[in-house]
Amino acid sequence: MVKTAPRRTIIIGAGLSGLAAAFRLTQLGHNVTVFERRSGLSTTGGTIMVRSNVSKIVKAWGLGPDIEAISDVSSSGIYRRAEDGEVLHERVPAKYTEHPDWGTFRDKLLKVFYENAITNHAEVRFGISVSRVWEDEYKSFVLLDSGETMEADLVLATDGGLSRIRQCVLGEDLQVQIRVAPMTFHQVTVSRKELLEHPFTKHLTENSNLTVWFRQGSYAVGRYSPKLDRFGGIFAVPADEEENPKLWEESGNIEHVREVFSNYEEPIRQILSTARSCDRWRLTEMPDLPTWSSTHGRLVLLGDSAHAMLPDAAQGFSQTIEDIEVLTLLLEQYSDLKYVSEIWEEVRLPRVARIKEFALNAKKAASNTNKAAEDQPAAVVPDRNAEFNSPAFNAWVYAYDAGEEIAQVIAGQ
Ligand SMILES: Cc1cc2nc3c(=O)[nH]c(=O)nc-3n(C[C@H](O)[C@H](O)[C@H](O)COP(=O)(O)OP(=O)(O)OC[C@H]3O[C@@H](n4cnc5c(N)ncnc54)[C@H](O)[C@@H]3O)c2cc1C
Repeated sequence: MVKTAPRRTIIIGAGLSGLAAAFRLTQLGHNVTVFERRSGLSTTGGTIMVRSNVSKIVKAWGLGPDIEAISDVSSSGIYRRAEDGEVLHERVPAKYTEHPDWGTFRDKLLKVFYENAITNHAEVRFGISVSRVWEDEYKSFVLLDSGETMEADLVLATDGGLSRIRQCVLGEDLQVQIRVAPMTFHQVTVSRKELLEHPFTKHLTENSNLTVWFRQGSYAVGRYSPKLDRFGGIFAVPADEEENPKLWEESGNIEHVREVFSNYEEPIRQILSTARSCDRWRLTEMPDLPTWSSTHGRLVLLGDSAHAMLPDAAQGFSQTIEDIEVLTLLLEQYSDLKYVSEIWEEVRLPRVARIKEFALNAKKAASNTNKAAEDQPAAVVPDRNAEFNSPAFNAWVYAYDAGEEIAQVIAGQ
């Protein structure tokens, strides 16, 4: 329960970031309303990893059983040559911590946060779009598209990478543009029944580890979920100049994906021939921002609106959970929101910037792991500046304890 007074908080967007924040804030006794422009929860659901640096946090929040029920322990990443499936390299990051790497699906994870937020009495209002936010020293204000104005102590803009609220938070002097990366992801889902029907895909049901198939210019990532009886595949292709300028669409061009992956080993070709449709994400990345909050600290960017990153490190959502852990611990401790946002950024901006850099280089760094050192994780000293995917770097990423870091910062104040 809150040590400082409960705060009236408005959250803009019911994606993973908004609903995770709504859950945690209501759990701590704050009063939360979420506005979401969609008419209901998003049901699109590709595969998503909840990394060990974050499974620890959600377990401490009491969500362990709910997330475990929809997740499989995905303890290693296997890198295969695209053409013949030969194993090139295997990475086992979970060795750095007792906490698991979980693999699940986005729609299921969203539902866990939503249902638990509702149980805690968060109000989630669908079909309502926010057009603008502003603040003074004492309050923040939200203007809905309907013309109605709402007041709150704190506003969290979790409206995604293409945020229209971002500029209101940052002010006119800090103009930012999201960067569009030269890759497009296509996601497919195939059921267990369909995998078992074909001799080439049967074996994919045998474990829940993440597999990456590499080839010059493209790659595929896949994971089977025994708990959910589905295989999620992500197919990365170079973006095409002629491509639809929309950054996300529910139906991508599955024929195009089949063609690009026609030189991959049989299981991949079979997955694509079984899948009836795919969605399409043009990858985006936010430049590193010098701040995620407004002058008085009453307007805050959270999630992809603050730090959309390439998905190759599978850390975008995980970093947001760390952000929420740190922010809510500070909100418990201090009543001055400007002070809270300053300390929050001091702790979070450098970590997220380094993880974004890792995401940008994750593919190149995939074979860096020094296996000998991985066998003795206890001897590894975490080092944010170490080479990406080296044991010291992996220990810094995956065994990180956000709560412990902020407790030390608070103790030193
Ligand atoms: C292919 C892919 C794979 C990924 N895999 C992983 C992974 O394995 N692990 C991981 O940690 N991360 C992963 N990520 C990153 C992760 O998915 C994102 O960081 C996360 O989903 C961002 O959530 P969000 O809530 O910030 O934004 P969004 O999901 O974009 O949600 C924003 C919400 O705000 C709503 N909204 C927007 N504007 C308004 C408005 N004006 N008023 C009201 N509502 C509004 C939208 O409708 C939407 O529901 C992956 C990303 C991609 C693209």
